[in-house]
Amino acid sequence: MPDTTIQVENSVSNDEMITEVRDSVAKLCGDFQGEYWRKLDREQAYPTEFVKALTDAGFLGALIPEEYGGVGLGMVAASVILEEIHHQGCNAAACHAQMYTMGTVLRHGSPEQKQEYLPKIADGSLRLQAFGVTEPTSGTDTTSLRTVAVRDGDDFLINGQKIWTSRAEHSDLMLLLARTTPLNEVKKKTEGLSVFLLDMRKAKGNGLTIRPIRTMMNHSTTEVFFDNLRIPASNLIGEENRGFRYILSGMNAERILIAAECIGDAKWFTKKSTNYANDRNIFGRPIGQNQGIQFPIARAYAQMKAAELMVYHAARLYEAGKPIGEEANTAKLLAADASWAAAEACVQTHGGFGFAEEYDVERKFREARLYQVAPISTNLILSYLAEHVLGMPRSY
Ligand SMILES: Cc1cc2nc3c(=O)[nH]c(=O)nc-3n(C[C@H](O)[C@H](O)[C@H](O)COP(=O)(O)OP(=O)(O)OC[C@H]3O[C@@H](n4cnc5c(N)ncnc54)[C@H](O)[C@@H]3O)c2cc1C
Repeated sequence: MPDTTIQVENSVSNDEMITEVRDSVAKLCGDFQGEYWRKLDREQAYPTEFVKALTDAGFLGALIPEEYGGVGLGMVAASVILEEIHHQGCNAAACHAQMYTMGTVLRHGSPEQKQEYLPKIADGSLRLQAFGVTEPTSGTDTTSLRTVAVRDGDDFLINGQKIWTSRAEHSDLMLLLARTTPLNEVKKKTEGLSVFLLDMRKAKGNGLTIRPIRTMMNHSTTEVFFDNLRIPASNLIGEENRGFRYILSGMNAERILIAAECIGDAKWFTKKSTNYANDRNIFGRPIGQNQGIQFPIARAYAQMKAAELMVYHAARLYEAGKPIGEEANTAKLLAADASWAAAEACVQTHGGFGFAEEYDVERKFREARLYQVAPISTNLILSYLAEHVLGMPRSY
């Protein structure tokens, strides 16, 4: 295993450091090429060795400040880490949440909670990569969620269900959003929700049940059931009933980072398309000589370049502590569209081989499709831009 440990002391990203980070990630990914991912995909298995390598190199603790044992990098560098993983044909979905879910604890946790959890998350001895928000009945309408947490002495009793709780089987902790004040007792639907840091190691078999969901790509996602699960009140993050606000601030970081993954995917697809278009000879000439092959690849490339500017613009604003709702959402929308355009062009360029497992194109194609739907669907971003940025009437 090459020494890829990052040793950078800066929370605002600069060019030299970014190059160093990018090169280190690319080197690490060199040990995890196509066959590694194909085998996992066939078995819907978890990339344990890959996640360990990223953890040991410090990449997953990139956003944790040095005082808590992390690397103390900024959002630009963190985005570069995830982008490069995807650019190299790997997939960070198995562990990207370890990087950013802790942001809610960092921003809103008590000093004791930060001291207890962040150093262990930074060194990987505690995995916080499960995020329990979405529910089967409420879906995108988060504030209608039905999971409740009711105060009982020094504890809360949790009842309800989550769905699409990714990585729950590969995480020690879950950041959980639950209703602590009934809907009919709050002025606004966004009030009365609270965030908890749930220790799943203690909870499993004591009121917490996790069931895996098989999906079109290898994603380790699950549904989770809470049946009178008792957790200490000390696991409440921030103030009771103000959890929705805390979750929203973390979602912007998530959108930027996942948009960066889409940029990496788009670059991978484009390289793969270009190489194949140059090498494949049909009718006595490379297929890439035909503009019918060139143009979709070139168009997707142009889309990616524009999206890339928006992703890193949003990341820089995040580092500067500016409001980024518009930029984070726009970045996610454009980057997901760019990666999907590049994926579509790549399959078409490969003809029949686009469907063959050994080329990796079909696997990456399935993986890229997710980002039109999660972590936020395209429609919901458009509706955010239309209503909150452009000032048109609310549709729901
Ligand atoms: C593989 C995977 C992993 C995931 N991981 C997690 C996770 O770790 N944690 C977590 O909490 N969630 C997770 N999710 C959930 C994900 O965030 C949701 O699937 C997504 O936000 C969409 O919600 P939904 O599936 O309930 O769709 P719904 O809300 O049922 O919507 C269905 C469709 O209708 C559209 N729609 C709904 N309302 C409107 C409207 N008003 N206007 C226009 N269109 C509308 C949506 O855009 C969508 O296309 C994951 C999902 C998947 C598939």
